[in-house]
Parts: sequence; C-alpha cells; structure tokens
Amino acid sequence: MAAACGDRFDLVVVGAGIMGSCAAYYAAKRGLRVLLLEQFDFLHGLGSSHGESRTIRATYPENYYPSMVLEARCLWEEAQAEAGYRVVTSTAHFDFGPEDNKSLQSVIDSGGHHREVNIRLIDRGSSSSVFSGVFALPDGWIGVVSDIGGVIRPTKAVAMFQALALKKGAILKDRTRIIAIEKDGENREGVRVRAAGGEIFLGSKCVITAGAWMKKLVKSVTEIDLPIQPLHTTICYWKIKAGHEAEFTAEGGFPTFASYGDSYIYGTPSLEFPGLIKIALHGGRPCDPDRRDWTASSSGVMVDSVGEWIRKILPGKVESGNPVITQACLYSMTPDGDFVIDFLGGEFGKDVVVAGGFSGHGFKMGPVVGRIVAEMAIDGAVEGLEIRHFGIRRFAECSSGNAKEFEEQVSSH
Ligand SMILES: Cc1cc2nc3c(=O)[nH]c(=O)nc-3n(C[C@H](O)[C@H](O)[C@H](O)COP(=O)(O)OP(=O)(O)OC[C@H]3O[C@@H](n4cnc5c(N)ncnc54)[C@H](O)[C@@H]3O)c2cc1C
Repeated sequence: MAAACGDRFDLVVVGAGIMGSCAAYYAAKRGLRVLLLEQFDFLHGLGSSHGESRTIRATYPENYYPSMVLEARCLWEEAQAEAGYRVVTSTAHFDFGPEDNKSLQSVIDSGGHHREVNIRLIDRGSSSSVFSGVFALPDGWIGVVSDIGGVIRPTKAVAMFQALALKKGAILKDRTRIIAIEKDGENREGVRVRAAGGEIFLGSKCVITAGAWMKKLVKSVTEIDLPIQPLHTTICYWKIKAGHEAEFTAEGGFPTFASYGDSYIYGTPSLEFPGLIKIALHGGRPCDPDRRDWTASSSGVMVDSVGEWIRKILPGKVESGNPVITQACLYSMTPDGDFVIDFLGGEFGKDVVVAGGFSGHGFKMGPVVGRIVAEMAIDGAVEGLEIRHFGIRRFAECSSGNAKEFEEQVSSH
C-alpha cells in the first residue's frame, strides 16, 4: 500500500538510515500504523548507514554504553532469526594503546563492571599469544580482549529492518524530502509533516532520525540549534601481504579492534573484500551534507596516519603505502561524542522524538535505539535503560555537553 497525501498515521518516522528503519520496525511490531519517509532512494550511499562493515563492541570508556550494546546484541539476534538470514558475524574485540591512555583505562574500568563483556588484559609480552601474534604492541602499550565483538553488514542490515517493518505493516516511502513539521489540527493534537513536493502526512507522533541532516531539519522546525556537526570521513581498505591473508579473517580468529593513542584507529577482519582489511581513522572534515567535497585529496591526512600506524602495529603483514579502496561516509558529531535521544519539547511536547548525533559509533545500537524511540513515542517514557546522558538540553547547561575524564578521541581536520 502506498502513502497518500493527507493520510493519518500513528507514527511518522523521518529518515530511513539504520535508526529510522529500526524505529519503524519496533513501532510497527507494537501494532502502530507507521510511515517511514526518506529523502533519497532507500539504501542510498549519501548518509551514514551504507557500506560494507560496522563494528560491534561492548568496551566503551563511558559506563552507560555497554548495557545498551548488550541489549542491542540480543535484538540483532532476534531480528536475524525473524528475517531468516544473518547480517552480523561475531568475533572477539581487541582494544589496545599506551598503558597511561585515560580512554583505554576507562574502557578497562567500565568493561570490568559487566560480566558478559568478559575482558582479559594483555601485556606486551603476551600479545604474541593472541590473534596469531599479528599485533606488535609497542613498548608501554597494553591490550584488553573482550568476547563481544563482531562485524555488521550495514546496507544489508538496513534492508533487513526495512523488510521486517514492511512485514509488520509499516508503509515505506522514499524520494520524499521533509521540509516542515508542524503541530496539527484545531486542538493542535498530533503533527503535520510536509514534503518538498507539497505532500502532507499526518501523524499522532513523529520521530526524526535525520542523521547528518538533523541540525538543519530541527532548526527549520524549532528554534533549537542542535550542536550536531556533520563530518566527511573516509574508510580505507589495505592489501594484506601474500601469505598472511588467513590470519586476518574472522574464521582465523582475527578480532574487530580499536587502537587508542594520539588518534583512534579501528578495523574489522578481512571479510567483505577477500585479501583486504579495513583500517581507518576515527575522524573527518566538517562539511555541509548537501554540498560535500568528494575530492580524494581531502582524505590525505587520514590515509597518512593510518599508513604510519600499520607500519608500527602490523609490521610486515599489510601493505601500508596507499589504501586500495577508499569510501566516503558521514559522521554526525556532538561535542561530547554522546547521542541525542530526547523529546523535542517546546510546542511539540512529547509528540516529536529526536534521535541523532550518533558520533561515529551508533550503528551497533540501531535496534536498541529503535526500541527506545518507538517506546518514547508510544508510551512517553523508556523502560529498562538510562538515557539521561542523551538529553537535548545538556548543551544549554554546558556547551561541551557531558563531562568526560578521558582524552578526546575524534579529530576533525
Ligand atoms: C565510516 C563510518 C564508520 C562507522 N563505523 C561504525 C562502527 O564501526 N560501529 C558503529 O556502531 N557505528 C559506526 N558508524 C556510525 C554509524 O554508521 C552511524 O552512527 C549510523 O549509521 C547513523 O545512522 P542514522 O540513521 O542516524 O543516520 P543515516 O544513516 O544518515 O540516516 C539518516 C537518514 O535520514 C534521511 N534524511 C535526512 N533529512 C531528511 C529529510 N529532511 N527528509 C527525509 N529524509 C531525510 C537521510 O537521507 C538518511 O537516509 C560509522 C559511521 C561511519 C560514517
């Protein structure tokens, strides 16, 4: 069934990346009449949820993320069982860096509070006994292995949640750019969602999951100026040296990993392109998501620092001159790197829920964010998870958001 102009829904979701697709599914699963709207074609490559791989890890410097990841993991399993195919490959996860790095120390502290995360410390001497000894930890570096890691196939995962939402009765509509969200009706109940083409959709509630467009869309709806900065980032795939390919595969026991230090470098096992491994720098260049500079030169700094890191940490195993494939993607950074999940408030009260600012680490959380925002829209509150760190108004109290005791890990250049 198609959505027609003037149709009324229980929930209208704006933005069909992983967050909007999950929100549509969890709301439809609870019996709501749901409409999911997307400005581009479904599964496009212009936002944050496309591509070949995303990491799942439960080790975070902040102690409020591991329990979200643990719930998300269960929801990923349930969704895969319902769909009948897999989008997640489980692996171990390996964090490492200088022993005195505060972020890494916080990872160890917060991981230690969750039995299921099951962390084990690795010193430089014992690093040769894990992961075929491929990681050469420098002097003064330590590592921590956790059972909870894995690779998600992002485009396939978004398609899975859209298919599941459809199956539960949601209506999906792409090529529909929303330009206004207003209070609806004479008694001002519900919302009117207006598209650039002139169509109007009515909803009792609305969820905005607009990714890197969040700041623009929210600003056009209210006076709130969300500090969500889009960053243009580059993913790099590097060639594994002949004879070492098997050591870097998930089947060969290779983990997802994160390297702390002057910069944060992360990677996933060789999976999507045989013989290549994804290793990238967490960061990017501020951009306008509607006017991006796609030139390769803009990713030079990111490529150079990863090449240098490969020579130091994976010596003799991976070609470090130049990546063989690069792909562009968008981050939506908040000043503290924490999510924004809240009611919009003001004249909208609890009728509009916003979920954005996923700051380069949201994909794994897609199902739990979907569950949370569906619940906020339906019940007006969230059960079972503490989300006070994700409030919109934290930036009004302090422009840098939540206080952190560890180093800033995301660079923009
Ligand atoms: C290179 C890279 C690596 C990453 N690695 C990881 C990782 O390893 N692990 C992890 O957990 N996370 C990772 N992330 C982060 C994760 O991918 C994002 O947090 C997540 O995809 C954000 O999803 P989203 O739905 O909020 O945004 P998006 O996927 O961008 O979805 C927003 C959608 O809203 C649509 N939209 C916007 N405005 C409008 C409008 N006005 N009308 C209609 N539609 C609109 C957009 O077109 C878009 O489709 C990574 C991100 C990148 C870029």
